[in-house]
Amino acid sequence: MKRLIIVSNRLPVKIEKNDEKLEVIPSAGGLATGLKSYHKSNNSLWIGWPGLNAESRKEENQITTLLQKEACLPVFLNENLIENYYDGFSNTILWPLFHYFIEYCKFKEDFWQAYKKVNEIFAEAIIANANENDTVWVHDYQLMLVPEILKRKRPDLSIGFFLHIPFPSYEIIRILPWREEILNGVLGADLIGFHTYDYARHFISSVKRLLGHDVDFNKINLENRQIYIDVFPMGIDYKKFEDKALEIQTKPIQERSKEHQDIDRFLLSVPNRKLILSIDRLDYTKGIPARLKAFRHFLRNHPEYKERVSLIMLTVPSRVDVKQYQDLRSEVEKLVGSINGYYGTINWNPIIYFYRSMPFDNLIELYSSADIALLTPLRDGMNLVAKEFIASKINHKGVLILSEMAGASKELGEAIAVNPNNIGDVSNAIYKALIMSDEDQKKSITAMQDRITRYDVYKWASDFVEALHKTEEKQAEYQARKVSVSLKTKLKDAYENANQRVLFLDYDGTLQRFFDTPKAAVPDAELIRLLNILANDTNNELVLISGRDQQTLNEWFGDKNYTIIAEHGAWIKEKHANWRERNPKKSNWKENIRPILESYVDRTPGSLIEEKTHSLVWHYRKADIELGVLRALELRANVSNLISNQDLEILEGNKVIEIKVSGINKGSAAIEYLTDKTFDFLMAIGDDWTDEFLFKELPKNALTIKVGTDKSAAKYYVDSYKDVRTLLKSFIENN
Ligand code: UDP
Repeated sequence: MKRLIIVSNRLPVKIEKNDEKLEVIPSAGGLATGLKSYHKSNNSLWIGWPGLNAESRKEENQITTLLQKEACLPVFLNENLIENYYDGFSNTILWPLFHYFIEYCKFKEDFWQAYKKVNEIFAEAIIANANENDTVWVHDYQLMLVPEILKRKRPDLSIGFFLHIPFPSYEIIRILPWREEILNGVLGADLIGFHTYDYARHFISSVKRLLGHDVDFNKINLENRQIYIDVFPMGIDYKKFEDKALEIQTKPIQERSKEHQDIDRFLLSVPNRKLILSIDRLDYTKGIPARLKAFRHFLRNHPEYKERVSLIMLTVPSRVDVKQYQDLRSEVEKLVGSINGYYGTINWNPIIYFYRSMPFDNLIELYSSADIALLTPLRDGMNLVAKEFIASKINHKGVLILSEMAGASKELGEAIAVNPNNIGDVSNAIYKALIMSDEDQKKSITAMQDRITRYDVYKWASDFVEALHKTEEKQAEYQARKVSVSLKTKLKDAYENANQRVLFLDYDGTLQRFFDTPKAAVPDAELIRLLNILANDTNNELVLISGRDQQTLNEWFGDKNYTIIAEHGAWIKEKHANWRERNPKKSNWKENIRPILESYVDRTPGSLIEEKTHSLVWHYRKADIELGVLRALELRANVSNLISNQDLEILEGNKVIEIKVSGINKGSAAIEYLTDKTFDFLMAIGDDWTDEFLFKELPKNALTIKVGTDKSAAKYYVDSYKDVRTLLKSFIENN
């Protein structure tokens, strides 16, 4: 049976050494806590770093044995590697860059080398443990090269990748010296998941601009496979939070934990006292200093809340060896000290500050007791704390103030949304939250609970894995129709056993690669030689069937003994005959359309117009790819209004929009050509959707082949024009 292998930098448990004894402790953090339950119930294997450097081989073995019970497999890394890969590349390059803190990035070659090395080590561990066709789900920014290594070495595996942090805009990612490697690394996956649509579209845009790949909505078409991009906002273990909150709140006061009793006493000592809560790792992305300044602003503007409101701030130590984190801690503690010093009274501290982590029960006590959660990250992939706060509010009372820059804000639309950089805005939000009626609180909390209870962490994980299996099915369908070695032999046999053959061959993208300008795609000597040998065989009829203009095709192939069909079937030159227009039509329609296309050329640098007898073509291959696609959509809409009564149609080819006289297409041209001729071998090969007419119209026994991964009516697929040449060469090999 296929097994799921989960891979992340950290395991869901970590190993600690206390008094020379190794202990297994649950890891903190959203990914670990969230996926752990899914892991347990799905018989999967989890591969990751155990959080401790083993001192000897013996200790490594002990750790491996301990982790086996948790269905985990450790990847051991030495201290130097951890420093350069984790603290270095991951946390002083990718983390700040992806969170838009460019000034914190330290681009060091040593970090990159260690990152590559560790990603290799992880990939090797996966390869050594994966059975054939297993599913591998790789997590997060520390392992972005793993999918590519896996795909290269183990193409049988089905690979998913999920990024838990934001994916920044193209303008940011382009700064990274190793940007292509990172993008290509991730593209080894079959399915790539993000928390929000914004992150997904940034990724797609970067792939288009930096790697030049073709993208079709949420699908990236590589030469030999397709990669799907989708959005899966990570959820929490909702029930766990809800149940614990219920347990805690229904406990008699005297049985509550000491911490909980302290909070109760604090709240009850002053009538109508309110508690604001913030919980985050001490990280510069979390906007802690700006939040403190906003709270100070609030205290200054609302003296009536003196002694009536406190901010409990739980900051969890994080990356304590990194200088920026040490500096941040000093800054935060200075601010806390100065605010408490200035506004506090003998009985009251405006800010109650903790610098540590807390056990789960205490966290829920905080969530349950707080009236308001104030979560104002400057940038945050998701922010699970926001969802946990909502889940813990079993009495439907409480207000969430949430930064617009947190991924969670996309789902938690009923929260009070703030721009964390706008101190006045955050201060106003605090006031608004404090005076919100119970009824309004209930309305928004319930709406948010409804949403996050449905899309909890189980649903999130199972949705992702299910989507990954679906991509496998799509890939399998594509692979099944791909011209394999055995199918190639069959095609060659069919070719050899036939006496009257016809080969319909499209040109651009089928026999020749694409160039920036259409004129540059002159046939090379190898291609001419191949086509000549095929055409000189008296049992063959070679038909070049292209969207290109008649003049160019005539210039390139006019003297050959091929039949040439030009302009999608508008013109035909049968072997040794003259050019003939198939369906002569007036072309004065062009006078109306040309100025429109010209305005698109003016507004889309790099694009150009090509004129054919029966069509006008707007090419945008050389334009900025995103602008080109946008303009193509615009152009289509614009022109379709104008041509509605004119017997014209719009064709969308590969980076071209063609407006042409309707009724003329490659299919009808081929059928006309075949009239009164008999063949016992019919083959047609083409790469874009103008060739679909051909695939659909040819008789059922035709062998139709599509170049590329797009959906097609053709029977078979090949990856690129190179495969077409190889296939054709195989036909003539013994001749
Ligand atoms: N958390 C914890 N112990 C603490 C404080 C927080 O385990 O003392 C957990 C919290 O419950 C949440 C996670 O840490 O699940 C923080 O996740 P979030 O997405 O908010 O931020 P991240 O740390 O991943 O940037």
